[in-house]
Amino acid sequence: MIDEKTIAPVVKELARALGDGADEQRIRELLRDFLENMKLEMDQAKRMVIKVMGGRPMATAMPGSDRKLDGLALDEKSVNLVVRVVHVTEKEIEAQGTKKRIYSGILGDETTTRPFTAWDAGAFKLSKGDVIKIENAYTTEWKGEPQVNLGRGARVAALPQSALPKVGRRSETRKIAELQEGMSGVGLSGRILSIERREVTVGEEKKTVFSGTLADQTGKTMFSSWHDFGLKEGDAIKVAGGYTKSWRGILQFNFDDRSQLDKLDDFPAAKDLSKPVTHSIESLDRAASAIDVEVRGIVLDIRPGSGLIFRCPQCNRVLQAASCREHGDVEGEPDMRVKAILDDGTGAMTVVCGREVTERLLGKSLDAVLKEIHGKKVVNYDTVRDKVSEMLIAKPVSVRGNATNDEFGLMLVSTELRFLSMGVADDARAILAEEEGAQ
Ligand SMILES: [Zn+2]
Repeated sequence: MIDEKTIAPVVKELARALGDGADEQRIRELLRDFLENMKLEMDQAKRMVIKVMGGRPMATAMPGSDRKLDGLALDEKSVNLVVRVVHVTEKEIEAQGTKKRIYSGILGDETTTRPFTAWDAGAFKLSKGDVIKIENAYTTEWKGEPQVNLGRGARVAALPQSALPKVGRRSETRKIAELQEGMSGVGLSGRILSIERREVTVGEEKKTVFSGTLADQTGKTMFSSWHDFGLKEGDAIKVAGGYTKSWRGILQFNFDDRSQLDKLDDFPAAKDLSKPVTHSIESLDRAASAIDVEVRGIVLDIRPGSGLIFRCPQCNRVLQAASCREHGDVEGEPDMRVKAILDDGTGAMTVVCGREVTERLLGKSLDAVLKEIHGKKVVNYDTVRDKVSEMLIAKPVSVRGNATNDEFGLMLVSTELRFLSMGVADDARAILAEEEGAQ
């Protein structure tokens, strides 16, 4: 029996939320029923009373009450939360022609973690580990899960660390496409597509690490196992208590002797998981990195620094007017690359093709290209870039490779470039549009 002192103020609160003429006796009965017979938590019980009595959802009906991250729906209008900033990055985006700085990252409480975006990084300061009270946030859908948004009406106040219990090494099961930087307590299942043993030095200590590529139906990730679990290529594994970390701009899934690892008998075959997963540029833009993905779109532009370029023999930097910004005038080494802007209707990204992909595109080796140029009366190195522009601009293509998203923006280093027929590109756009819509 829950005492009346606890019940009475909640009944008043609910009556206010439900509005004029709400039957307090009925509220009290329902509340007791949910708490005592159904053993619901107070928050849940309150929400149930509102629901049964035909009120609006809790978030709008009762702006005063804090919510838990695992109870958020996909499109809530006004939510108050007490959360810890698990991970945060500040970046500049362009929206409707104006540049602005936003925060994005992960929020956590004792129930789960959720991605968030704060659309005005100037409005308040967020740092990793901060415990904050957020008022008047709203949620949108991101990969079937709620994302917390802090718009113009949101308020943020700092709270002491003790306001929220530390999130333990409890494991929450994730798919590879959902991995974000700075996550801990991650549960993940995947098949090992490749693995190698490496010796590394961490501080003073020599360690053995087993790293490679892990895949599930949503994509691939690099992984590192800091403990010898006897893993080999082709194994399907289920890890509990892993964590993520970026290394050279690429997200890594890490686990160690404190993680739990089980081998799985039933998991999709390696040959089905090896294919690249097709992504929209918008979805890539929301991740820190993605490996071995395919993107389909139209080439909008070929950037300066494409075609035949010359690199500094000492530092490999691309020379500007035959000069390295570190080493001055040097004898440049020729190389070829393409820097293209690709647009798929959801966004635009930079695609960089290295020498091999550029050679395949031109159907000529670098040596053959140089011989041709030097055979002419007037040596013009720009001809390669002109040729590449003519071949690619306004053409629908598919590119495959690793994508990184950092202060330089979203970039994919392409290991494969295919031309698509116009019809195919339209189909691709239609499929992407459908996927985005369904998410
Ligand atoms: Zn140099």
